[in-house]
Amino acid sequence: DMFADRRNSAGIDLSNESELKALADCLKQSADAAWRAQPLVPGLDAERKAQPVTNPADQSDVVGKVHHALERDAVHAMQVAARAAPRWAAAPLAERAACLDRAADAMEAAMPVLMGLIMREAGKTAANAVAEVREAVDFLRYYAVQAREGLTDTDTLGPVVCISPWNFPLAIFTGQVAAALVAGNPVLAKPAEETPLIAAQAVQLMHDAGVPIDVLQFLPGGGDVGAALVAAPQTAGVVFTGSTEVAKLIQRELASRLSATGGPIPLIAETGGQNAMIVDSSALAEQVVADVIASAFDSAGQRCSALRVLCLQEDIADRQLAMIRGALQELCIGNPVNLSTDVGPVITAEAKRTIDAHVARMASEGCRVERLDLPEEAAKGTFVTPTIIEIGSIAQLGREVFGPVLHVVRYKRRDLGKLVAAINATGYGLTFGLHTRLDETVRQVIAHVAAGNLYVNRNTIGAVVGVQPFGGRGLSGTGPKAGGPLYLGRLSSGASTDLSV
Ligand code: GLU
Repeated sequence: DMFADRRNSAGIDLSNESELKALADCLKQSADAAWRAQPLVPGLDAERKAQPVTNPADQSDVVGKVHHALERDAVHAMQVAARAAPRWAAAPLAERAACLDRAADAMEAAMPVLMGLIMREAGKTAANAVAEVREAVDFLRYYAVQAREGLTDTDTLGPVVCISPWNFPLAIFTGQVAAALVAGNPVLAKPAEETPLIAAQAVQLMHDAGVPIDVLQFLPGGGDVGAALVAAPQTAGVVFTGSTEVAKLIQRELASRLSATGGPIPLIAETGGQNAMIVDSSALAEQVVADVIASAFDSAGQRCSALRVLCLQEDIADRQLAMIRGALQELCIGNPVNLSTDVGPVITAEAKRTIDAHVARMASEGCRVERLDLPEEAAKGTFVTPTIIEIGSIAQLGREVFGPVLHVVRYKRRDLGKLVAAINATGYGLTFGLHTRLDETVRQVIAHVAAGNLYVNRNTIGAVVGVQPFGGRGLSGTGPKAGGPLYLGRLSSGASTDLSV
């Protein structure tokens, strides 16, 4: 086995009391620490203005402060990166990969402290925070192995811009940066505006692991900084995870230019989804309940992989829905610093407004809407209660709603083909779930669904690095899939990896 030396990170066991106690101590430490993020760009003239970063579960909890980069810092950083490029490209591949391995070990060792920061800055639950740090560690180790196996010393592009999302503020940030770096490119990393503090910790770990500061520059800030980086003439590649709208803007910008060698400028964009799950009358009802709750409401539905529309065969719909509603009642909503929380806040007040407005509109259009009551403490933060909306057809979905809102539609067995066609017609194609015990249905449906990640008789979230490469089609992204064998190929100029996917 050529990957015998690669293992996924084990994480910490939240059902083990001593590990839980260590976590509780780290949460306290994290609460006392003065977390800070600032532009890490060699030669900046002065300190940038500071702004507080608050916990979305509790606005009075100030997690730290961020100094935003300015547009002109992006221009300057790009010049620094272009100067650093030849030196990093000439560094032996083994040395670049070793930096990732060292950063992985350090990150794994720091797991509880990083979890504490993720829980407060991003409002993620303890279980999500464990998964997040594990995934970041896995990305580092996986791309190190992939680089050693598949790249050559000369396969580099030049400065790569990495723009990452707040919903996986450590894992996706680290994955993008690690991949671009190990392929020999200097990186300009712009974390999501909402979650700069945890990203700053990842950068620190990578610098400590031996990545030079002019090779990995950090530019916390908003869309203006990201746009300036993408527009810079030295940009040789872009990795982006976020909305479909922004991905289109980036693609248009890059399409109007050519790389230094005269080819197109590579883009990896991973965006949203209108992810569906089909449940037929042969499905195991209890398993469906667990998988629907996890797929739709884990991370408060703030995953691009999250389930947005559950399609129930009409014969079993009432019974299945009753079971799902029952399970919904048991979810514990609140601040994730309470370790028994299942569903935390949504990321900002604006996100809450958008989601609540969607729910109100669907109710006004006559859809049946069910919501849990929010606990009193929810007033301190930006919470949206888990919601189920019954709709008449997939066409009613409209835009992706990035929160704990599950739409439910009923279908007749004989219309299964039309249902799959309607799912494909959304134009998105990220995750898809199927619950059935009929092998023939599995074969037929899987053959026709246009989605990147298809899951049968399980939930649709939490793709594991190196095991389930993750990424979509159509409006959901460009591929190649993250955590898969083709990813580094897009970030290098070598032909050692197939770029056709
Ligand atoms: N990879 C994550 C999952 O499988 C989703 C990533 C995202 O939301 O951007 O759940």
